Amino acid sequence: MCSGRVDLEFILRAFANGMDGVFIGGCRLGECNYITHGNYHALNMALLCKKIMEHIGLNPDRLRVEFMSAGDGILFSEVADEFSGQIRALGPLGSTEGLSLDELKQRIQEVSKLVPYIKIAKGEKLALRPAKGDYDQFYTLDEIEELLNEVISYYIDPEKCQACMTCAKRCPAEAIIGGKNLIHVIDQDKCIRCGTCFEACPPRFSAVKKFTGEPVPPPIPEGKRTIVRKGKEKEGTS
Ligand code: SF4
Ligand code: SF4
Repeated sequence: MCSGRVDLEFILRAFANGMDGVFIGGCRLGECNYITHGNYHALNMALLCKKIMEHIGLNPDRLRVEFMSAGDGILFSEVADEFSGQIRALGPLGSTEGLSLDELKQRIQEVSKLVPYIKIAKGEKLALRPAKGDYDQFYTLDEIEELLNEVISYYIDPEKCQACMTCAKRCPAEAIIGGKNLIHVIDQDKCIRCGTCFEACPPRFSAVKKFTGEPVPPPIPEGKRTIVRKGKEKEGTS
């Protein structure tokens, strides 16, 4: 219904599924029927996606966004013809990139996992309306490289976790595996890196650690996650 629904994840999924090009068509800028101006959001998302594509070695010309009204049939057919010709000239995915299809798909899948993080990190900028003439530099390659080379991850320190369950209750992605008297662990594949657990862990425990641009330690093995409280320890030995 609205190009404002276009998400980074949809574009990357199309490429991961082997599409050679992705075209996004939206209503003319400034002529949105709603107060949302979703077409600006689509434009902003596409500009961000182009820089991410460049960063992972995927030719950004494979993505095109254009704005036209329902009455612009001739314009639509001209743009569609031109874009199809451009994609045909670029060849199948991977050919102009100098990468095998498998390598390219792996890179796309890796960056797709970071989409929630990218959207959180770039949330304020994604709400802006790029000005005509500024599209190319609205996002810079340096900015994207910094963002993706310094990805933030969260880790629960098993020495400090007191299994109070606060973080697990607040996690929006159900990424924290925990339970009563069990040291909590973060499922890194599910974590969207929102930082809620970091904020929520009571300061007297400070068990959630933030890592920037480096991998987190492996999770504590399942069999070593039970916390034996001091009182219970005594009960057990008497
Ligand atoms: S950073 Fe966010 S998503 Fe990840 S475990 Fe913490 S609360 Fe859950
Ligand atoms: S909030 Fe902190 S202490 Fe409580 S379960 Fe989570 S990591 Fe452990």
